[in-house]
Amino acid sequence: MNEIRIFVPATIANISCGFDVLGLCLDSVGDEMIIKKTIKKGITISKVIGQELPLDPNKNVAGVAANALLKNLTVDFGFDIVIIKNIKPGSGIGSSAASSAGAVFGINEILGKPFSLKELIPFAMEGEKLASGSAHADNVAPAILGGFTLIRSYEPLEVIKIHTPKELYATIIHPQIEIKTIDSRSVVKKEVPLQTAVKQLGNLGGLISGLYTEDYNLIGNSLHDEIAEPYRSILIPEFENIKKECIKNGALGSGISGSGPSIFALCRGKENAEKVSRGMKQVYNKTAIAFDIHVSKINERGIKILETK
Ligand code: ADP
Repeated sequence: MNEIRIFVPATIANISCGFDVLGLCLDSVGDEMIIKKTIKKGITISKVIGQELPLDPNKNVAGVAANALLKNLTVDFGFDIVIIKNIKPGSGIGSSAASSAGAVFGINEILGKPFSLKELIPFAMEGEKLASGSAHADNVAPAILGGFTLIRSYEPLEVIKIHTPKELYATIIHPQIEIKTIDSRSVVKKEVPLQTAVKQLGNLGGLISGLYTEDYNLIGNSLHDEIAEPYRSILIPEFENIKKECIKNGALGSGISGSGPSIFALCRGKENAEKVSRGMKQVYNKTAIAFDIHVSKINERGIKILETK
């Protein structure tokens, strides 16, 4: 194989009660990447279409992740990467994670899969380190593995793929405002009272159990975040109204996607997810805030190969 074209999905990290440990993979929102073998060794990024992002492989997460992988192998050729960016950077649905994950996935395929999907995660995390200063896996893991993922431990890294209920959909609204990841991290308290931790643990256990047993009521009852949402939501205009509207329209639950500003809702079935999206739109239509909105099935496969040459 000399060339691969792939679909690299957007992802939702945290999912309310899974602060810093849970993530899920979306299906209808994502970038495309084209990766080609080159005679020249090393990584080049020849084009980014759709967004202003650096072409310097040391400043683009795709280049950093790709180089992290190549450090572990001896290859006497290189790779060129083209990124077709549909996921806006800083939206909170894993824009940088998609590029980090896509770069390592594509190169691994061209090389005949020397690494398993799970083994690719630490390389993709190096890209995340460039984007946000910390090598977190809660977006790259679901992008690479698909479905829901749980980071059971960082040291050593252990990622578990969780069962996806068949009728589950996500609705995501992205208000076009800028929240710096550093700001949304800094508002979250470093210490958590025992009572708060107990509530969060109960909900996290409930959500995982609900996902495995496809118990939609239990999933809904568990979608609460006691740790980040009370503080982060203040940075997102109309957050409480959006959340109320989602629940009124029958969503199982709603919360902040990653560190925001996107807000997600989980829904049972596509029809309900569309209804929830109309409710979300109504709230922002009353304001001057521009927004994007997406309805997506949960993507159990993760990155998809579109073409190989
Ligand atoms: P998101 O949660 O949407 O990924 P982040 O704040 O984590 O947003 O990452 C976006 C940051 O990463 C921006 O500063 C952006 O310039 C930088 N970046 C570097 N390369 C890329 C890339 N290929 N795709 C997206 N963002 C990138």
